[in-house]
Amino acid sequence: MSQASETAAASSALQPQIEEPARKVKILLVDDTPDNLVSLEAALYTLGEDLVFANSGTEALRHLLEDDFAAVLLDVKMPGMDGFETAELIRSRPRSRHTPILFLTGYKSDEHLFRGYDLGAVDFLFKPIVPEVLRSKVAVFVQLSRNATLLREHAQALREQAAVLQKAEQKFRSLLEAAPDAMVMCRQDGEIVLVNSRTESLFGHSRSQLLGNNIRLLVPDWDYHVQFVPDEDLSCPQPALAGKELTAARKDGSQFPAEITFSPLQTEEGLLITSAIRDITDRKCAEEQIRELNADLEKRVLERTEELLRSNDELAQFAYVASHDLQEPLRTVSIYTQLLAKRYQGQLGGDADLFVEYITGNARRMELLIRDILDFSRVDSRGNEHFTATSCDKALDEALSNLRSRIEESGAVIRRDPLPAVMGDPIQLTRVFQNLISNSIKYRSRVPPQIAVTAQSRGNEWLFTVEDNGIGIEPEYAEKVFGIFKRLHVRGEHPGNGMGLAICKKILGRHGGRIWVESALGKGSKFRFTLPKAN
Ligand code: ADP
Repeated sequence: MSQASETAAASSALQPQIEEPARKVKILLVDDTPDNLVSLEAALYTLGEDLVFANSGTEALRHLLEDDFAAVLLDVKMPGMDGFETAELIRSRPRSRHTPILFLTGYKSDEHLFRGYDLGAVDFLFKPIVPEVLRSKVAVFVQLSRNATLLREHAQALREQAAVLQKAEQKFRSLLEAAPDAMVMCRQDGEIVLVNSRTESLFGHSRSQLLGNNIRLLVPDWDYHVQFVPDEDLSCPQPALAGKELTAARKDGSQFPAEITFSPLQTEEGLLITSAIRDITDRKCAEEQIRELNADLEKRVLERTEELLRSNDELAQFAYVASHDLQEPLRTVSIYTQLLAKRYQGQLGGDADLFVEYITGNARRMELLIRDILDFSRVDSRGNEHFTATSCDKALDEALSNLRSRIEESGAVIRRDPLPAVMGDPIQLTRVFQNLISNSIKYRSRVPPQIAVTAQSRGNEWLFTVEDNGIGIEPEYAEKVFGIFKRLHVRGEHPGNGMGLAICKKILGRHGGRIWVESALGKGSKFRFTLPKAN
């Protein structure tokens, strides 16, 4: 039986039964004279009970074997087995031992009465019978019989209820015993009324030592603060308070960290609190280990970051110095080759003119590469003093003015929204707009470029978009294009070194922003970047 149905069964046993119409009881009338039986019936039929007739002691005994009777009205003087003999047999049988017997007799002798009472008579009625007296005496036994039946039923209901309660209690106790935590039930002042065996093993006290003692013996700081609004319905469960961490003490004086969950129960005897006490030593050790590991990890990350920053700095310096120092000899190579071409063109014979052209072209390309590397390495080396409140509108104006001839040449149409001001380096922000718009013109489709520059507010940052109707980028290359020297085209198709977007990414990173592209081949591109809002 489930707990719910057990509870239901227990409470239904307690419920007052709905009043049913009184069941009829049986009254046995025994007389050898049919006329007497008729007059008994006449006197008793108004009671509305079942009247059963017998005209001999033997017949009466047969009825009593088969049925229970509220009363037996027994004529004393009968042929064969008389009333007294019949009564003796009635009393000797277990089923009818307690059935009330009323003797009907014409004799009023003491001997007669004693014998009758000896045989268990409850009353004597003397002939001629007065119907009213008969009726009222029988009515008393009818009522007694009904009450006895009711008492029997109640006793049965109580037995059933006790059995259900006992089962529920057994279940509760086995649950309590099976709990992995120490379970201690106590009153609000801490007096312990119930513990499970886990409490004994966890704390080292025996059950008898604990009962009646205070829970603060186990948890010195135990306290229970919730104010209870007394609930009319005591069966209504009160909410549990979970996970309070306290220190618990064993009998030997040692201590351990414990997590305690309180479950209050409002009972007729007052508030009872069940504390589920869990030893969390292992958990605490694991937490401590994790804390130590984290601290160690953080320290190592910090050291590694410092190392990386140092080597990054060194690399940036190297790139800067190398590219800067390379410029000079390269320029000399370039100038002298150009001089060679100018002075001796057509005089050197063979493929010499072509070779000179290759040298000049590649020297020019190398110059551009070195310029871009220098630009890239300079992004971080520009000091913070260049950071100022910068109007992005102005930065865009500057970029468009630098690109004027290419815009006119390509017939590009530029649509722009008003742009916000941010904290930043105006030269670098101009560079971002310039690189993106120049790419939009460079990677245009067959139709004239349509470019839109917009900005929208998003939380504590601005989201800028440079959108074009150009050739677009396959999504799988959307990240790659921001890498150093990363290009999707051969130089013959579109000139460039693959540094423009890498420089944009570096500039925006320095400004606390990000850049990405949303595009598909043939669908134009949306270059998006964020910048923190100025304070
Ligand atoms: P570059 O233009 O010098 O090649 P970038 O770093 O500016 O270098 O761009 C990297 C690559 O990204 C380009 O080679 C090009 O393939 C692609 N790309 C950049 N901008 C666009 C654009 N607006 N539309 C299509 N492709 C673009």
